[in-house]
Amino acid sequence: MDCIFCKIVKKEIPSKVVYEDEKVVAFHDINPQAPYHILVIPKKHLSTLLDLTEEDKDLIGHIYLVINRLAKDLGFAERGYRVVVNCKEEAGQTVFHLHFHLLAGRTMGWPPG
Ligand code: IMP
Repeated sequence: MDCIFCKIVKKEIPSKVVYEDEKVVAFHDINPQAPYHILVIPKKHLSTLLDLTEEDKDLIGHIYLVINRLAKDLGFAERGYRVVVNCKEEAGQTVFHLHFHLLAGRTMGWPPG
């Protein structure tokens, strides 16, 4: 499968990894939209949020705990951060491998564009 994030998981293309375990990888976004912009992805290929099933419940819980840990380890837990998942084209999804944007280090606006 020609998926850029699967290639990052398999280390076929380089990325700046900040965390990795048997289920997930977290790495710096190539086009950061905030001082901290990290993508947390499951190693398992799921195209969109809509592909989640009952069997992925633990995986999603794990991803949020990893996000929590990164926020603490990287020092922005106290000030706050935003987690974004774009699901399909109209929401702005451009890479069809499920990913959680972790954004921090500046004041965020609302509503998002
Ligand atoms: P989406 O628009 O929600 O699908 O987010 C995709 C994100 O992946 C964008 O923020 C891109 O900048 C980022 N991205 C695309 N290719 C790479 C890469 O090779 N390394 C790191 N980030 C990437």
